[in-house]
Amino acid sequence: MRRRSGAQNGYFRNTSRLAGSDFCRERPLRSRIPGGDVLWGRRMRKTGQRKAERLVEEVEKLLSGRDFVGFLKTRVNGPLKIHHEFRFSVSDCPNACSRPQIVDIGIIGARRPAISGVPCTGCGACVAVCREEAIGLGGEGDAPEIDMDKCVQCGKCIDSCPSGALEQGSHGWRVLVGGKLGRHPQLGAELEGIYSGEEVLAKVGRCVDLYFEYSEGGERFGAMLNRIAALRYRRKGTNTESSS
Ligand code: SF4
Ligand code: SF4
Repeated sequence: MRRRSGAQNGYFRNTSRLAGSDFCRERPLRSRIPGGDVLWGRRMRKTGQRKAERLVEEVEKLLSGRDFVGFLKTRVNGPLKIHHEFRFSVSDCPNACSRPQIVDIGIIGARRPAISGVPCTGCGACVAVCREEAIGLGGEGDAPEIDMDKCVQCGKCIDSCPSGALEQGSHGWRVLVGGKLGRHPQLGAELEGIYSGEEVLAKVGRCVDLYFEYSEGGERFGAMLNRIAALRYRRKGTNTESSS
């Protein structure tokens, strides 16, 4: 049974499971950052796993340099509790086993399919493998058509295509910010785009900077973002009124 050691923890969980995996087994791990417990359930695969592991290590290194507990002690009136933790989650695929949608910063692996220009044979393998019904045939020159509104960027269709008509387009990581549970739950808002590992690290660093600068009373990152957005909205309204 997993045990958590209370209010002084940072919380970090990773699953690694990219589409196309034929070797995927769970390996729960446990580690520590100063002032925080670092947990993740890691899943292994032949390829792709190293990138996720490297990202986890880099994020962990970045977090280790920040004093979350010391910061919270200056902001929270009373004892620190588990809901004060700043939470990160990395998931290597859109199955999102580590629940990146409900943490302060969630990171999800993404492989976006692209049409390569190589002729499609019409075998239908990509249609069969797509659980989102996001791909169909009969585009221009019988090319596959992808509905990017439905596509979750799992990359399964790329791996299934025997002809090479589908190829890997942008790939890297999706970034979600401000997710939380509690009395007023909300899913993290996804930043537009797919980011490289370096870009993810820069964004995590920036988010932590913002949190340390603006967070009040031990509020969650999402609550802080909501508060700032509401403030800006109110200010904008006030400015519009005064200028009209
Ligand atoms: S179209 Fe998108 S959701 Fe469907 S298999 Fe391909 S990458 Fe996955
Ligand atoms: S898997 Fe490739 S070759 Fe087969 S229908 Fe899809 S795009 Fe065409």
